[in-house]
This record gives sequence, structure tokens and C-alpha cells, in this order.
Amino acid sequence: MSLERELYKRANNKCELCGSEEHLKIHTLLPQKDEALNKSLVACKTCVDQIENPDTTDANHWRCLNDSMWSEHEAVKVAAWRMLSRLRAEGWPQDLLDMMYLEDDVLEFAKATGEGEPDPEQLIHRDVNGVVLQHGDSVVLIKDLKVKGSSMVAKQGTAVRNIRLDRENEKYIEGKVGPTLTVIITDFVKKL
Ligand SMILES: [Zn+2]
Repeated sequence: MSLERELYKRANNKCELCGSEEHLKIHTLLPQKDEALNKSLVACKTCVDQIENPDTTDANHWRCLNDSMWSEHEAVKVAAWRMLSRLRAEGWPQDLLDMMYLEDDVLEFAKATGEGEPDPEQLIHRDVNGVVLQHGDSVVLIKDLKVKGSSMVAKQGTAVRNIRLDRENEKYIEGKVGPTLTVIITDFVKKL
């Protein structure tokens, strides 16, 4: 049996990602060049177009991964993992990713296209010296700051542990100054 026929048989003549029976083709996962049973899958035009053109990704279409991520076939798992990684900011894809298990070598291949790497457009929080801040870091205040909504002033030199990053504004972090959780501007902190 040809590889192509074998793949269509495995797929039961349906898109292995969303189950559609229309406009099917063999999709081979980058960076693999030649079709292979464990690197190729049968997918519909809708799925393939979105895989290949991230700008056209419609998150709702990929709810289908709820089912197909459990496929026993490596190529399907990798395709699901990559798309969930691309969409992880939506929340639910991250939950699914957390439930997924890929063998080390499969995971390495899944990561080969850079899907799931930090998005260059993702907010990056930096302290006054330009050092990147992450969730859980500790910082020190470099000037006295009024704590919003209270009469308290946090003194220069106060350490703020276990900061949180604001998801919408790269200039804001949150941390506890004394007992109060407050928003602090990144320009006024230095990473410890
Ligand atoms: Zn599909």
C-alpha cells in the first residue's frame, strides 16, 4: 500500500485534526521534507491553511483539538501540540497542553518550528536597567513610592518579593508592599 493510501486509511478519510471530510490533503510537518507515517497526517484545507498562515488562525476552529490531541499517532499529536501552543494565550489551549504528554524526542520535534516560543509581540517587563522581569522575581524600589489607595509611602530600598506581571501593560508589575498588594511601575524598580 502506498504511504498516501495508508495515511488516508489511518485517518478514515477524515481530517485527523477536525474530522472534516472535505478538501483533504496530506500535510507533512515542518521541518520534515518527505512524507512519512509519523510526520504526515491527513488534514483539511481549513486546518492546513491556518497551520501555514498564523495570521488567519481562528481559535474556535481549534476546539476540535479537544478530541484529536488524544490521537495515538505522533504526527497528529505534534500538529495538535503546535497549534495549542500557538493559541495558549486563549487560556483553554494551555489547559489542554497541560494534559498532553509527548515523549522527549516527539516534543523536541514538536518544538522545531518555534511554535510555543515566546511571542515577540508578547509584553516584556524590564526594570530600570532594562533587565527582564519575570513572575516571581524580587525587586527593590529605587525611590519612595506612594502606595495607591492608602496613605502609605513605600521607602526607597524596600524589597518586593514574588512580583506578578501585568498582562496588559509592560510598565506595570504587582507586588506586596507591606501587607498591601499594589501596582508598581517598572521604571522605579531594580531586580534583586
Ligand atoms: Zn481539519
